[in-house]
Amino acid sequence: MPHHGVKSREFFERAQKVIPYGVNSNFRYSGDETLVVADARDGYVYDFDGKRYIDYRLGYGPVILGHADPFVNGRVKEAIDHGLSFAATQEYEVKVAERIVDMCPGVEMVRLSNTGSECTMHAIRLARGHTGRDILLKFEGCYHGAHDYVLWSTASGNIEEVGDRQHPLAYKQSIGIPEVMRDLIQLCPWNDVEVLGDILQHRGEEIAAVIVEPMLGNGAGLMPRPGYLEFLREQCDQYGIILIFDEVKTGFRLAPGGAGEYFGVLPDISTFAKAMGNGYPIAAFGGKKEVMMSIRPGRVFQGGTYTGNVVSTAAADATLEYIQTGKVFEQLNKVGGMLMEGIDEILNRHGVPHFINGAPAMFGICYTDTQPRDWRDLFKADWDLYETITNHMVENGVMPDPEGFEPWFLCVDHTVEDAAETLQAFEEGLKFALNKN
Ligand code: PMP
Repeated sequence: MPHHGVKSREFFERAQKVIPYGVNSNFRYSGDETLVVADARDGYVYDFDGKRYIDYRLGYGPVILGHADPFVNGRVKEAIDHGLSFAATQEYEVKVAERIVDMCPGVEMVRLSNTGSECTMHAIRLARGHTGRDILLKFEGCYHGAHDYVLWSTASGNIEEVGDRQHPLAYKQSIGIPEVMRDLIQLCPWNDVEVLGDILQHRGEEIAAVIVEPMLGNGAGLMPRPGYLEFLREQCDQYGIILIFDEVKTGFRLAPGGAGEYFGVLPDISTFAKAMGNGYPIAAFGGKKEVMMSIRPGRVFQGGTYTGNVVSTAAADATLEYIQTGKVFEQLNKVGGMLMEGIDEILNRHGVPHFINGAPAMFGICYTDTQPRDWRDLFKADWDLYETITNHMVENGVMPDPEGFEPWFLCVDHTVEDAAETLQAFEEGLKFALNKN
């Protein structure tokens, strides 16, 4: 992260006096040089010393239309003059639900909530309630939020403590998660048909849901092997398991209809968040009517004071409307494509073995000579090299996340000029890293 100027340093010291480590999410903490932001516009963020960065973090992905987007903000400003929270159904909620149903294949009904974590929690409860089973199968390296159901063997897990591939152990990501929660979770390596098949053969009938990031949005953008998602679909059907695609990162970003559209495989329930609100706090889970209708008084509980509030739903209505115009992906593909190709060309020219995974709107880079298949393989890549290059870029005003498991995110405001500046900073960072070794 950046070396702070005087004002940014002072501000971060102030933050640390009243907020543990000065951050409201552990992920954001990177020591004394933790990023602080004073302003943001379009594809840029600015620190307290006025330094500008081309922002490829975009708040961990949501800001698909750019920071402080005037279209979205304008619609929110209009909406809030008529009240915010009614504990009653209001128009923006219905418009957002209609848009999601329109855009996302296989989604017939949705419920809204505020965060990705809240959504995966509700989706999992729904799957358990609907099937009458308790066990959740999740994949190593996938992140599904901060709640106890899923905070096991996520991207930041400890590879030394997850057992062998055939017999994966659940790594607890936080103290404070009761040990009994372990009995409810079954881990499995991602992208591995054999191990999944074996586990389901033994436990398939106990499992309520298989939850998966269809591409590893928390694992350097790794893509599923051909046929893998189809295999998941088929196995879930065989054992009566609910298949949940966690599209919190991929939704409305991999394609207008998310991973469901992109890969052509449809789950029973999908969870969405980030890109649907361009940074406003909103999330949704939705799927087949038959499954969604299990949410009702006396059956599956879902609720929340702020779910479907006017601020967030007006923002999501505007964001999704804009995405539906079709203009977004043309731009993301152009600039993101330039970056993916440019980085590939630079690395080839310097003879650095690498793999670039993902799609132009969301991609990752691994320095390794074998294509990683899953989270376990990712640890074989050279992340020191990644960090050295990235830190050098950040110093030069170009900011991908220095943690390489986090993909680069594009927004419509990133320009061809930004991409050219980024490629130059990338090559300088690479030369610096190669000379250093
Ligand atoms: N699922 C996925 C795939 C995510 O990437 C995240 C957050 N990065 C979440 C769920 C949790 O979302 P939130 O941080 O909004 O609770």
